[in-house]
Amino acid sequence: MTEQHFSPLHWQTPVIHHQRLSQQAQKQILLKMECWQPTASFKIRGIGLTCQHYASQGVKHFICASGGNAGYAVAYAARQLKIPATIVVPETTTEHARELIEEQLAELVVVGKVWDEANQHALQLTEEPDTALIHPFDDPLIWQGHASIVTELKQQIEKPDAIVLSVGGGGLLSGVIKGLMIEGWEDVPVIAVETEGAASFNAAMKAGEPIMIDKISTVATSLGARQVAKQAVSAANEHTVHSITVSDQQAVAACLAFANHQQVIVEPACGATLSPIYCVDEVLEPYDKVVAIVCGGMTMDFSTLCDWHYHF
Ligand SMILES: *Cc1c(COP(=O)(O)O)cnc(C)c1O
Repeated sequence: MTEQHFSPLHWQTPVIHHQRLSQQAQKQILLKMECWQPTASFKIRGIGLTCQHYASQGVKHFICASGGNAGYAVAYAARQLKIPATIVVPETTTEHARELIEEQLAELVVVGKVWDEANQHALQLTEEPDTALIHPFDDPLIWQGHASIVTELKQQIEKPDAIVLSVGGGGLLSGVIKGLMIEGWEDVPVIAVETEGAASFNAAMKAGEPIMIDKISTVATSLGARQVAKQAVSAANEHTVHSITVSDQQAVAACLAFANHQQVIVEPACGATLSPIYCVDEVLEPYDKVVAIVCGGMTMDFSTLCDWHYHF
């Protein structure tokens, strides 16, 4: 039995009352600062819990196929738990993300042009004994870990009128809805935001079930799941969820505005959540007190954001 690590691997994050956005939107805008997790995104909540679970079961090696925040969170969790990790990333993964993953001492393996090819390789590695494949969003332990956002919120603030968050594969959405159920906040609606080029949740809501969209075409790479988890759709059927989409341009503009106001760089995946607030979108009209989950992300640097902003 390896030494067990029971305290969570994620941190408690503050809720910031955003003065300028609140004035602009004529509402109370509260920001749950998941960008300040040790891995710069909320992903460590679910992934940390999942890795701890597998460690307690005697797993000796973690595998994850992700060139983004999930891979980084697995690398971080593995290092904290003193268990080796292999992160399989596609060739498109930025140098910046590769460096961060390697800084956590994980083994970085570059395979394939797209995520599917990296994932195939990761699946092969998982055939070895005592290994565990950590899925970025489709696992009940991931949702349970993400649900801690709501448990924490309940200790920090009075019940909000709505929660805004981004959707990629739907792990965050599933976890937050789970948390709302657990904490007795089941009447708090969720506004689920995607960019237009990654709107697999929007498509699933229209179809009534997860469907595979043709392609992903967005700068918000962390939202790029071609199909959402089944759980995201079934959770959304039992809860009030408004699905909206924003353009890449709006998401990037929100990132830059946020960087200027808050001195924090986030990915366009997170800019998507901030965008309806900066644009005072009509979807927010019925609500006075709104929490935005600032999901964060580590793959972006400021000059790339500026480049995109000026070239759209
Ligand atoms: C993973 C991720 C998302 C999307 O989360 P899902 O659980 O895949 O829906 C959004 N923003 C950031 C920064 C992420 O890393």
